Amino acid sequence: TSLSISLDSPSLEEALKHYFGYDSFRPGQREIIEHVLANRDQLVIMPTGGGKSICFQLPALLKPGLMIVVSPLIALMQDQVELLRDNGISATFLNSSLSAEERRSRGRAVMEGRIKLLYVAPERLLSEDFLQGVMPHIVERVGISAFAIDEAHCVSEWGHDFRPEYRQLSTLRSRYPNIPIIALTATATHRVRDDIVQQLNLHQPRVNVSSFNRSNLYYEVRPKTKTAYAEVVQQIKETPGAGIIYCLSRKRVEEIAARLKQDGIAALPYHAGLNGETRQDNQTRFIRDDVRVMVATIAFGMGINKPDVRFVIHYDIPKNIEGYYQESGRAGRDGEPSTCTLFYSYADVKTIEYIISQKVDPNTGEALEDEQRIATQQLRRVINYAEATDCRRTIQLSYFGEAFAGQCDNCDNCKFPKPVEDWTVEAQKFLSCIARFAQRGRTFGMVHTIDVLRGSKSKRVLENKHDTLSTYGIGKDISADDWKMLGRSLIHQRLVDESTDGYSVLKLNDLSWEVLRSERKVHIAIDKAKPALTIAQTVA
Ligand code: ADP
Ligand code: ZN
Repeated sequence: TSLSISLDSPSLEEALKHYFGYDSFRPGQREIIEHVLANRDQLVIMPTGGGKSICFQLPALLKPGLMIVVSPLIALMQDQVELLRDNGISATFLNSSLSAEERRSRGRAVMEGRIKLLYVAPERLLSEDFLQGVMPHIVERVGISAFAIDEAHCVSEWGHDFRPEYRQLSTLRSRYPNIPIIALTATATHRVRDDIVQQLNLHQPRVNVSSFNRSNLYYEVRPKTKTAYAEVVQQIKETPGAGIIYCLSRKRVEEIAARLKQDGIAALPYHAGLNGETRQDNQTRFIRDDVRVMVATIAFGMGINKPDVRFVIHYDIPKNIEGYYQESGRAGRDGEPSTCTLFYSYADVKTIEYIISQKVDPNTGEALEDEQRIATQQLRRVINYAEATDCRRTIQLSYFGEAFAGQCDNCDNCKFPKPVEDWTVEAQKFLSCIARFAQRGRTFGMVHTIDVLRGSKSKRVLENKHDTLSTYGIGKDISADDWKMLGRSLIHQRLVDESTDGYSVLKLNDLSWEVLRSERKVHIAIDKAKPALTIAQTVA
């Protein structure tokens, strides 16, 4: 049935205007739509807010037959369908929340060809009932124009939101070899991309990757000091509009939400420990602007369609860059200037390291070494991001394999470059102290190393006779905090190795020796307190 509609340029634009009221396509949209119309399999990778929806919605309206949209969350389905219906587009959804009566009536509407877009959860679509009882009738009576798999990263265990029921979607390609599949996601890593193509059995798919640069977002990292909470309050007070504060634990979410309320800021908590009703309620109130601030764990986010979130604050360090990009990316979906703040402390790093060390197989109690290794690598990249002196955008985008020249002028490092100082001599003192330990066949951690450098008379120093080392007391002139700053910078620049088998010890590596032999200089960025920024300043 090659009833293929050939649409020349003006008419696609006209259709866009007619159905959605937009004057022009955003980058990528037109090509994607043309390929859906040409019945090609496709993988569409676009950042949040990029405009994925119309890439399948417009072709659904232009093609004969019904488009089946697979979506993981009931709330998400309802929102999208409501939005479409408001625009006069015939869409509906099927899920477990509907009465049998309602399901039947919607089924009739589908069979009579009165519906162009049918939203359905994967478990429903793949149920025997549906596959055997409903699909054959749809195929015969109205035909299926395409399957659109929204949030397609859910098929991948490498993604941040794996859903086993998505795995079964591979059956679509084998059951319906002639119906095109368009898979859409905002997840950008290559591993997940490859996994989607493989798991869904996409046939020679066209892969469309949009730029992940969100130029309206201002990225900043702040040291998490005693004033962190006050800085958050100040930011909320100075920034008009709504915001999200992400915390690592439910307990912390509750704490911060309660404290904000006490301080006169309308805030609500959201985490998986709250019952479904409360969660739904809090979410709705946030979306409707009844409250300004949502304090949440990462349980809050996917499918939250609130375009005017003006700030996202990570009060605790995120576990990986991908998660950080997605969570912070919930700011500014409407394209208006918005701020993404990450509070960073080494204590948080330690907390996450501890959580990682606790990842064990629930059956055998054995450490899940692969998972631990991956999680540790991901954490390293977050630390590198947080401690970086380069453009934050460059670092984030490089994580997704996208080159970005830097000097974005819309991140803290570009706006307020940190002074970089040459600390080669100090680094040599630090590293030679570790070399002395090694000569005596021992390894120690950062605190002890600094004790020796600063000539401490601690029990541990005296017991080990480290007051007799040539490096004892050679670093008295520098504060313990500054030594720590140097030590951490050396670790993150890989100029010394930190191994954490039980407790953490420092070990020299090849690069350390290059520093010791004066073949390599050591530069560190001095992190001075940053001025608080308001949105007005970030756009200035
Ligand atoms: P995503 O699903 O990729 O996060 P959406 O499809 O929800 O993004 O689109 C994000 C916003 O951009 C929505 O408010 C949508 O109406 C708007 N949008 C999408 N395409 C266009 C366009 N061509 N012109 C103007 N606005 C658009
Ligand atoms: Zn920058």
